[in-house]
Amino acid sequence: MSTMEQVRITNPREIVDRNFKIAAERVGLTVDDQILLKTPFRELKVEVPVRMDDGSLKVFSGYRVQHSGARGPAKGGIRYHPSVDIDEVRSLAEAMTWKTALANIPFGGAKGGVDCDPVEMSQAEVERVTRKFISRIHHILGPYRDIPAPDVNTNAQVMAWILDEYSSRHGYSPACVTGKPLELGGSLGRAQATGRGVMFVIREYMRDIGRPMKGLRVVVQGFGNVGSNAALLLEEQGCEIFAVADVYGGIISANGKPLPIKELVAHAKKTGSVIMFPGAESIDNHDLLLLDCDVLVPAAMECVLNHDNAERVKAKVIAEAANLPTTPEADDIFAKRGLVVLPDILTNVGGVIVSYFEWAQNLQQTFWTAQKVNEELFRYVEAAYREVAALASAEKIAFKCAAYQLAVERVARAERLRGL
Ligand code: NAD
Repeated sequence: MSTMEQVRITNPREIVDRNFKIAAERVGLTVDDQILLKTPFRELKVEVPVRMDDGSLKVFSGYRVQHSGARGPAKGGIRYHPSVDIDEVRSLAEAMTWKTALANIPFGGAKGGVDCDPVEMSQAEVERVTRKFISRIHHILGPYRDIPAPDVNTNAQVMAWILDEYSSRHGYSPACVTGKPLELGGSLGRAQATGRGVMFVIREYMRDIGRPMKGLRVVVQGFGNVGSNAALLLEEQGCEIFAVADVYGGIISANGKPLPIKELVAHAKKTGSVIMFPGAESIDNHDLLLLDCDVLVPAAMECVLNHDNAERVKAKVIAEAANLPTTPEADDIFAKRGLVVLPDILTNVGGVIVSYFEWAQNLQQTFWTAQKVNEELFRYVEAAYREVAALASAEKIAFKCAAYQLAVERVARAERLRGL
């Protein structure tokens, strides 16, 4: 094995670079086009000084990267996590550009984050971080500029503080942020939207291969917004979720029967974690990814499926609910071993689609029913899935390759039409 082959990829940047490069070659982009599409439109780094509850001062770093606005205002979540840095935010912002293009919604891509650890912080500290961060980046945000949304460790309450900080400077602007509470112009169905999209994509794929949802054995890593809602909705379809994990550890059904997800959600809400769920045994987070199952749903962080574990993953299908969970080396290994990867920019697209509905409702000052939101969500996700599946089948390429090809082609066309 050469030295190059031994290099391990654990950086999300290398994932987006590789996915883009394959797509760019397939689409036949010139070098100039590639530079234009890859280079972020705008990057902002700010210091976020915050007085902690114990009186000490902490200075965090905050970032907002607007990767592309070719197809519409930049759109992407805000993440609070100690691993947040410019490289991670830049990679996730670029992934948002391809995701919004694949979904065919009128947005570009952005991402933001602060390198704080909410697990160790009080609610009041999280609020102070949010208000200070937004006070320093509000001038590049706005309903027609850049619209944040929830991501890891941020939720509807954090979006409400963002709305308040932005609106206090620019006038009441519900469309400046999505994933808000209903009382402040949020959309029905937004909290479940990413998980619902994950379920739709798995269901469409299973329909194509003639496998019923009922009885599918599923493992979920990450039990936050995306993982827990995906698990609930997959359970409703008859899938059997028998192991899950969060940052504190994993659990596996002790009696071979599926875990009762509603009870597990209530337990996680009450205790702050899935661990210690009555009737379940604990399992190491890394071993969880290697369990024999029909579908593995990584719904936590990037790069969890990589050179180290890809040969030992026993799932038949990997549904990428998290952003960038599979490194290129792992993708190659899965392809060689015949494992199917349902790519992130398709599988977790539901969240940004309902964010688009929320934004549109805010601008039109209307309010959709849950039924309308979910029906429209299905229409968009199904269309994206069908396009990806058709291209993958026609060109005999992986779903990920097809998804990126469609997305890159769309953004390239928009860039060209707008001109330099
Ligand atoms: P969240 O903060 O609600 O939940 C994250 C979950 O992952 C938590 O259960 C946490 O304990 C767990 N986790 C963190 N580190 C872990 C580790 N090392 N091992 C196991 N579990 C770990 O975040 P979320 O909104 O559910 O986002 C999860 C993923 O989905 C991220 O990759 C995010 O970018 C992506 N995503 C989120 C949305 C959305 O609408 N929230 C949309 C698209 C994609």
